[in-house]
Amino acid sequence: MTGKERSVQERLRSIPAVEKVLADKRVGSVMARVHRRMATRVVRQYLDELRRSIQAGAEDEYDVDELGRRLEQEVRPRLTRVINGLGVVLHTGLGRCPLSGAAQEGLRDVASGFSSLEIDVDSGRRGDRYSHVESLLCELTGAEAAHVVNNNCAATLLVLSSMAAGREVIVSRGQLIEIGGSFRIPDVMRQSGCTMVEVGTTNRTHLRDYANAITERTGSIIRVHMSNYRITGFIKEVGLEELVQLGNERGIPVIDDLGSGALIDLSVFGLPKEPLVQESMKTGAAVACFSGDKLIGACQAGIIVGKKEHIRRMKKHPLTRALRCDKLSFAVLERTLELFLDEARLLEEHAVMRVLLKPVEQMQKEAKVLARKVEQALKGKADVMVKPSLSEFGGGSLATESLESRALAVSPRAISVDELARRMRHSRPPVFGRVERDEYLLDFRTLSKDDIPETAEALLSALGAA
Ligand SMILES: *Cc1c(COP(=O)(O)O)cnc(C)c1O
Repeated sequence: MTGKERSVQERLRSIPAVEKVLADKRVGSVMARVHRRMATRVVRQYLDELRRSIQAGAEDEYDVDELGRRLEQEVRPRLTRVINGLGVVLHTGLGRCPLSGAAQEGLRDVASGFSSLEIDVDSGRRGDRYSHVESLLCELTGAEAAHVVNNNCAATLLVLSSMAAGREVIVSRGQLIEIGGSFRIPDVMRQSGCTMVEVGTTNRTHLRDYANAITERTGSIIRVHMSNYRITGFIKEVGLEELVQLGNERGIPVIDDLGSGALIDLSVFGLPKEPLVQESMKTGAAVACFSGDKLIGACQAGIIVGKKEHIRRMKKHPLTRALRCDKLSFAVLERTLELFLDEARLLEEHAVMRVLLKPVEQMQKEAKVLARKVEQALKGKADVMVKPSLSEFGGGSLATESLESRALAVSPRAISVDELARRMRHSRPPVFGRVERDEYLLDFRTLSKDDIPETAEALLSALGAA
């Protein structure tokens, strides 16, 4: 036996038994807060991993601190509120959009007991869960009818399945996108039972490309928002108006996958323009679909608006039941959509709009408040400075655009920025910041005034100055 093998055997033997670890006084305080069954599970998993890594030649040993950290993670729910200092407004990892106060109230109201989800309060008879939001959507977008499913991916699946299954769907090669999380246009087409007919080239597609591809098997033409990518240079895509005109001439409905789906014109506020759902309806798209939790700022949902005949068929499609939303989603959707009826209220209360329209001076002021709060107590453990920064829309909207913002830049002296970022993520609530070169940045476009006290506390504790 060589020295190394012996030490492997020895180290394996030194791994304590599960029961012994469970009784280890050094983790007693956290152990007392974790349910016994979950504690046993965490300990077992940890010891198994330790055994495997020792067998694989690692110099690991039973580490009570590591176990303590793992148990600590079991104490609180995994899904919690976090502080977004990343400056990405719609970050899928951070739950995409924050909700408005009205939506939170609606959520609490419906969650607190029974609800009128599928009952007609007037007659006391069975009602329709979609009717609450359908009239709002029709009013806001000018559509004849509307429908809601679980997310925009589900919306595309249902739209294609109900309108073009067994037939061909024409799409420009420049629009064959993949959104993160394996949503890919060709895959959704296949899953919907459609045959995809690609036309044009990556950078240029002409109206004649669509026209030449139409056959007696064509079920629909689809336009897909490019969302998270852009091509520039020698490019051409066909506008919705021309597609609709072609569709009308040949009796083919045009589907418009808008991605984010803006209900108000952002360019009025000096932001880049996103295509409006109203415009899509006015131009004559047969149906348009978009996400509920991107610029709409509600919950995860796929909103479909369009002509009555198509929506009626969708509602009867077997997929509809499989893709239907929960009462909590309807509560959030209804209260969020209501904000769009009144622009003044929208700008005041809509959480995404507020973040998008947050003035730079306000960010500057708030960043300074945080700086002042921590500066004294840091006693040279880190340098802090308010700096110009750039934040992003995220969520596949306005992919290449960035927004001017302000950030608090922290340069720790005794620990690395990565270690600081890690410690911030482990605070309560977890704080997410950007690491850029040798600085830790907290972007005040997404970090709100209300987050300042907790962020200050997290910073001081992470830097050992609490
Ligand atoms: C984001 C996006 C989707 C997927 O929407 P989810 O609501 O995330 O399912 C589909 N199509 C386009 C064009 C998008 O931008």
